[in-house]
Amino acid sequence: MSPVAGNLFILAAPSGGGKSSLIKALLEKHADQNMQVSVSLTTRAPRPGEENGKHYHFVDVARFKQEIADGTLFEWAEVFGNYYGTSRTVIEQTLQQGIDVFLDIDWQGARQVKQQIPDASAIFILPPSEDELRKRLTGRGQDSQEVIEQRMAEARAEISHYAEFDYLVVNDEFDHALADLERIVLTQRLRLGPQRARHHELLASLLPDDRR
Ligand code: GDP
Ligand code: ADP
Ligand code: 5GP
Repeated sequence: MSPVAGNLFILAAPSGGGKSSLIKALLEKHADQNMQVSVSLTTRAPRPGEENGKHYHFVDVARFKQEIADGTLFEWAEVFGNYYGTSRTVIEQTLQQGIDVFLDIDWQGARQVKQQIPDASAIFILPPSEDELRKRLTGRGQDSQEVIEQRMAEARAEISHYAEFDYLVVNDEFDHALADLERIVLTQRLRLGPQRARHHELLASLLPDDRR
């Protein structure tokens, strides 16, 4: 167990907003730091190239419902007609090890996580325009036209929850949005609680009589 728990970051956005690309780029750029993305359970079918255990844990509906009944999910939601959920033990154990965890989840999951861990940083990613969102969803080349239309139709519903989040990042220029995300992570790490634990010896040497 680490003396300083990891931070929890929630990223939400309409589908195609750039959540997974931003998290992937952040983890690649800071591979030397203790950061992990949480791999969700889903009942959605794998896309071409998606690996079980890496992008998602792909499960059937019966198994997902069993996980709900067993209370093993930290949060779960139905999104675009499929179930998605975050494993409780993975989150808790990873944070306990002092590793920062990134959740790529929808607004319903974000709300459940904030209720349980109010210190989590909830970040909403906006596309620069509706047209650009459609272009990115199409350009990703992973969903059928029907699925893209369904996701575009749901985009407004997802975006309508932006005000429940702590941070709002516009993903126009990718590198600008990535820099915004890096600043949010740094800000969270500099909060009093974890900094006090991290610099316990320094504080004790500077304030030998302090009993806090
Ligand atoms: P310039 O072309 O170098 O002058 O860049 P601008 O400052 O005009 O910004 C170009 C685009 O990037 C605009 O859409 C801005 O909203 C966006 N942008 C600029 N700075 C940031 C930033 O710090 N974060 C994010 N996410 N977008 C930014
Ligand atoms: P999400 O995980 O939110 O569904 P993705 O990360 O898969 O979104 O991004 C959707 C598509 O848009 C991907 O093909 C990605 O490469 C592209 N993309 C993401 N951010 C940008 C950006 N700032 N500029 C151009 N394309 C982007
Ligand atoms: P996709 O099918 O494009 O990977 O994800 C579809 C939507 O489900 C996205 O909005 C994504 O954030 C959300 N999602 C993915 N994993 C989870 C999860 O574990 N929990 C919740 N609540 N939503 C998730």
